[in-house]
Amino acid sequence: MEQQFRNDRIFVAGAWRQGRGAEITSSFAAEGTDNTVVSGASAADVDEAIEKARAAQANPAWRGLKPQDRATYLYKISDGITANIERIAWVQCRDTSKTLTETRALAASAAATFRYFGAVLETSDDVLTVPRGAYQTMSVHEPLGVVAAITPWNSPIASDAQKVAPALAAGNAVVLKPASWSPLVSLELARIIEEAGLPTGLFSVLPGSGREVGNRLVAHPDISKVSFTGGTSTGRHLARVAAEKLMPVSLELGGKSPTIVFEDCDEDLAIAGILFGIFSSSGQSCIAGSRLFVQRSIYDRFVARLVAATERLRVGHPFDADTQVSSLVHPDHRLTVEDYVAKGLEDGGEVLTGGERPDAPNLATGAYFAPTIISGLNNKARICREEIFGPVLVVLPFDDEEDVIAQANDNDYGLACGVWSKDYPKSLRVGAAIRAGTVWINTYKQFSISTPFGGDGDSGLGREKGRDGLRAYQRQKSFYTDLSGQPHPWARWPARG
Ligand code: NAP
Repeated sequence: MEQQFRNDRIFVAGAWRQGRGAEITSSFAAEGTDNTVVSGASAADVDEAIEKARAAQANPAWRGLKPQDRATYLYKISDGITANIERIAWVQCRDTSKTLTETRALAASAAATFRYFGAVLETSDDVLTVPRGAYQTMSVHEPLGVVAAITPWNSPIASDAQKVAPALAAGNAVVLKPASWSPLVSLELARIIEEAGLPTGLFSVLPGSGREVGNRLVAHPDISKVSFTGGTSTGRHLARVAAEKLMPVSLELGGKSPTIVFEDCDEDLAIAGILFGIFSSSGQSCIAGSRLFVQRSIYDRFVARLVAATERLRVGHPFDADTQVSSLVHPDHRLTVEDYVAKGLEDGGEVLTGGERPDAPNLATGAYFAPTIISGLNNKARICREEIFGPVLVVLPFDDEEDVIAQANDNDYGLACGVWSKDYPKSLRVGAAIRAGTVWINTYKQFSISTPFGGDGDSGLGREKGRDGLRAYQRQKSFYTDLSGQPHPWARWPARG
């Protein structure tokens, strides 16, 4: 399994070279060790990548490519990812400390995303619209130009694919900036894209700081769209810059998603789904079901069963196939999570389980944090309102449908929601009333590339995935062609008499 790190340079328009920015240390938080040092990009590197991307994108050899030929690149990239799944999974595991089981699944999902958008491209039509006069009207789709893709550290290969695949399929060039805590896997993707033979310049990967590389990318006049996944405050900043340029921006941001357990649910299914929804990926997931509402009539029994089930979860090394909860991404991130738990206690919360670092000696050097459940808080408490991005669940009681809808919606985020009930009409009714981009009924944290994903409110703007995911990287152009052969009557021309 053990492999070598092979990418320590930036990838600028087909060239692997030293960046001119500050170096980035990739670390393996599960063991408290460093992986490797990666050369970081500078603002000058950004300018160079964008200039070359612009030229490559404008080249008729790319712009004019038949859909089936452009799709072939996406299929090759998909095949390249599939052929390298074990390597990608290992690199991402070392970079993020996610379990190998999870990083294998993320790599497989990235391969599927490239294949899907190749197929979407091949099967997308432009339209003849209904004319309202003696002309033919049609609406066609064109690429935007050069897209900046900025991704976070929690699921880098999947986030990268969700932006790069539709953007390339739509005929754009892409400059990708991965998060500083996880620079390695995007560089693996660059190698695969290079091997797929994508024309030089259409894709660059620039690890580097958000402050220097990210800001320069977004502000650059030749960037036509920013596709961002990350925190809400960063997203808001990017939206302001985009507003100044009148540039489209899509924002996949944070969440504080409610999970609702009705008294008529199948409790065993609900417990399994809730554990997966909050504690997989150690809670470092935008869609984590981090606010649990349990109907008061079953509250005590259900919460006691959930606590017992949580205490059975296996916390361990990410290489271990039995591990369910691995290390957090970075020791600094664990400090943030611990700070939130302390705030919960200050506000009167009670830790039902966890709340501290696990005491197993073999985990002592890693950034582990025990799966934690906190009760006794009001939905307005800070840890019920703010995203913790760690393995911390708050549980709250509710009385009835009306009460839980009001509590669930009393939050600035609107990313996802889970409903557990055997009453399907009620589940649909509640799901429809909750502000969320995705509602899971009797399941949680399931994805399909053909189903759009995104959030409302502080959770973002726009949708990724699905057939319309391609359209998010295109602009529409309309054509009117006169069929009458007659001069416009308003001109009264040619003049008579
Ligand atoms: P973050 O701090 O906002 O960073 C995300 C990316 O933005 C990183 O590449 C970061 O670079 C870059 N960045 C930071 N400041 C920037 C600036 N001024 N201009 C341009 N780029 C800048 O978020 P994170 O901590 O990495 O990720 C966790 C967040 O992502 C959570 O809130 C989570 O909910 C959200 N997320 C959302 C989704 C979704 O689909 N809705 C999916 C996954 C994660 P540096 O790393 O160099 O700072």
